[in-house]
Amino acid sequence: MITCKELAQKIKNEVKSVINAFTENGFKKPRLVIFSNEAPDGLRYIRNKVKVAEEVGIEAEVLNVKSNMTFDEIKNTIAKQYDATGVIVQLPFTGDKNKDQELIDCIPYDQDVDGLKGGVVPATALGIYEYLKENDLINGKRITIIGRSKLVGMPLAKMLLETDATVTLCHSKTTDLQCHTLEADVIVSAVGKINLINQSLLWFDQGYHIVDVGINFDEDGIMCGDVADDVRGMDNVTCTPVPGGVGLLTTACLMKNTLSLYSK
Ligand code: NAD
Repeated sequence: MITCKELAQKIKNEVKSVINAFTENGFKKPRLVIFSNEAPDGLRYIRNKVKVAEEVGIEAEVLNVKSNMTFDEIKNTIAKQYDATGVIVQLPFTGDKNKDQELIDCIPYDQDVDGLKGGVVPATALGIYEYLKENDLINGKRITIIGRSKLVGMPLAKMLLETDATVTLCHSKTTDLQCHTLEADVIVSAVGKINLINQSLLWFDQGYHIVDVGINFDEDGIMCGDVADDVRGMDNVTCTPVPGGVGLLTTACLMKNTLSLYSK
């Protein structure tokens, strides 16, 4: 199987070579503008995005929103990034979901690189889709996705259905998770709960491919996914790592999305 790390590198190489072809022909580099509120959690993700952007030939600029700016000034700045190929508002931004949505609403449709408005597929869903496609885990497979967010579960389910998987989409109101996981070939867990995927959800003599999207921190502050360690140790299971799994695909596909907007 191709790993998330290998696939992320392959995607970045492809993006880099297309951008090179543009810039060698005199086009300006694509430009990504990331709005940050300087919260430490967000800054870690932002630093990583900037590093990967530079790796593939995309200019990335982080705009720290100053505390003396009014909410309307912030909205106005987000709306007027005329030079940018893509605009990102690193969420959570204000601590209020409705206000965060107002900021997202200010991003012009053709600069919405996170795919919050439907112009491009959100990077995490796209990354998981590419991973399953590369490993021939879509056509005819039974795929159970846990988590129905607009950024992960929903768009992924749609893409997988369109490419001939049999898809089950579970969520917080699903009453019997086990009955949807036992017979699956592929399980995608995008919830954010430590040990959600434990041995009680699987048979011991059936093969499973698990994609662990969750990002959690255990009591020692160590990053981990939704999949319990004893599941990772099962002989009949392959599972993407956390960290070093879906996160790498997400960043690589963010660059792919930037390239899509740039090409258009
Ligand atoms: P979200 O909070 O928007 O959605 C969580 C989903 O899980 C909801 O649909 C909810 O119905 C479902 N859910 C909650 N409890 C459940 C339960 N007990 N059983 C079944 N379903 C349940 O979150 P999100 O933005 O989709 O992110 C999900 C997780 O993936 C988080 O941990 C997030 O940090 C992580 N994430 C990782 C990446 C990455 O690049 N690795 C990208 C995006 C999100």
